[in-house]
Amino acid sequence: MNGDQLMDETQKREPLDVVVIGAGFAGLYMLHKLRALGMKAVVLEAAENVGGTWYWNRYPGARCDVESLEYSYSFDDALQQEWHWSERYATQPELLRYINHVADRFDLRRDIRFNTRVASAARDEQNNLWTLSSEGGETFTARYCISAVGCLSLPSLPAFKGRDSFAGRLYHTGLWPREGVDFTGLRVGVIGTGSSGVQVIPHIAQQAKHLHVFQRTPHYSVPAKNRPLDPGETARYKARYPEHREAARQSAIGIAGFPVPTQSALEVSAEERTEAYGMGWERGSTGYTRIYTDILKNEVANATASDFVKMRIQQVVRDPAVATRLTPRYMIGTKRLCLDTQYFETYNRENVVLVDVSEAPIDQITEHGIRTTAREYELDAIVMATGFDAITGALKGIDIRGSGGQSLAQKWEAGPRAYLGLMTSGFPNLFLITGPGSPSVLSNVVTSIEQHVEWIADCLAHLRQHGIARMDADLAAEDRWVQTVNEAANATLLPKGNSWYLGANVEGKPRVFMPYAGGVGNYRVVCDQVVIDGYRGFLLS
Ligand code: NAP
Repeated sequence: MNGDQLMDETQKREPLDVVVIGAGFAGLYMLHKLRALGMKAVVLEAAENVGGTWYWNRYPGARCDVESLEYSYSFDDALQQEWHWSERYATQPELLRYINHVADRFDLRRDIRFNTRVASAARDEQNNLWTLSSEGGETFTARYCISAVGCLSLPSLPAFKGRDSFAGRLYHTGLWPREGVDFTGLRVGVIGTGSSGVQVIPHIAQQAKHLHVFQRTPHYSVPAKNRPLDPGETARYKARYPEHREAARQSAIGIAGFPVPTQSALEVSAEERTEAYGMGWERGSTGYTRIYTDILKNEVANATASDFVKMRIQQVVRDPAVATRLTPRYMIGTKRLCLDTQYFETYNRENVVLVDVSEAPIDQITEHGIRTTAREYELDAIVMATGFDAITGALKGIDIRGSGGQSLAQKWEAGPRAYLGLMTSGFPNLFLITGPGSPSVLSNVVTSIEQHVEWIADCLAHLRQHGIARMDADLAAEDRWVQTVNEAANATLLPKGNSWYLGANVEGKPRVFMPYAGGVGNYRVVCDQVVIDGYRGFLLS
């Protein structure tokens, strides 16, 4: 009998303790913690292997924008000491190797069901169980269900007319073919210039015969200044790993190495600011918007940081008309800041043309390429770097039914509501790792994942110890937390950007600021205090 058959047999006899959805960073660590608690758990994963985001986003140039030594698990000192990161910012292949290494090192695969996409999750109130069904028709029953589906896992493909009529090849950066793509000699069009576009464009430009970039919004990007990691530097960092990790946990965005601003941009001279922004630019990190305390809080302060990047774009891009089209018009940081390698420089190449689709939008995809309201562009391949239905898309894509058959998608129709981003009222025993209302995408997500996984594991141990079978979020506590999330966002400029943080990138999605902007360290204190207060705001029975 193989592992799968064994699991099926087990399922017939008795329910599992926990079913986890997703085998990315979150699902793997959750499984490891559940095993340590002696719980019987299964992870259901749509892909044929582990990795989550780093499994799917294989496009050329895909690379993390948090430094490798920080964007990694901290829960096991031997793991963090033994793993060797080769570059300051890890590439997708290196990250995928790391995640595979973790799966093997902790022997996690035997409890993961691959090629198993969850279609529904239904609450059986009478028996206090969750039943999950896969698209393939298998069912899994457990006391607890834990979502580890990730915040950026459902690709968003704009519904362009004629998408199926294109005679060439069409790709999405978040669903990249495993075998890779050779663009040599091809006429390629890339739609989208967010973090994925900014990374893929320089790579395709080097291969393709010709590249058209279809840009709706010019975005801010700062150079990554990526480089190989020096062994001495790595050793010194690793020698102080516990301190660095602790600093990350207490920090605003889960990164120890970011500057902690102490001054307003408006209390220093213009020369001093220019020098600071120049240093930030040379440092190469998204910490650029954290140089002063008020870049993300005050429009005048923000303009000083925005203007510096605009000036750099004008300096890098040789054709002044192209430089102007590439110059952002919104406040820096109100859409996620991109980190690039040779992005703006790519527009100095002979074979690259920037097509501004803000005024003449894409009208349709035709058999031969892309037609904007101004003209048609003939292409052999189209790459959609059009992003994701973020934070809620993957969860709403599963037919989740809570108490009384209530649908999660319906409950969240006007925007997601969750207490601490960990549970949503009316869906007992369903936990959300990096759910809406938690710092998630506004942080080094690995730091935030570890905090949630550890909080949930401690919570499950508490429930078991006290003979508590059912846990739900109290609706009043949830409402108050949603208000806190709104207040935290409104204390910043973040809601003023037309960003995916707000759902603005998906047609028909409600405009609600979804992550918690109050900071990773502050959020941890709130979560810990809730536990100290006897799981305040949760209903335990
Ligand atoms: P994104 O930031 O949402 O960017 C999508 C791009 O597609 C935008 O330029 C958008 O234009 C454009 N677009 C969407 N629909 C369009 C349409 N109908 N016509 C023309 N243009 C259209 O998505 P992403 O680049 O995949 O990045 C998403 C997030 O994933 C990032 O913010 C980041 O958190 C994460 N990510 C991280 C890394 C990294 O670590 N380095 C790399 C990739 C992604 P508008 O701006 O006008 O909407």
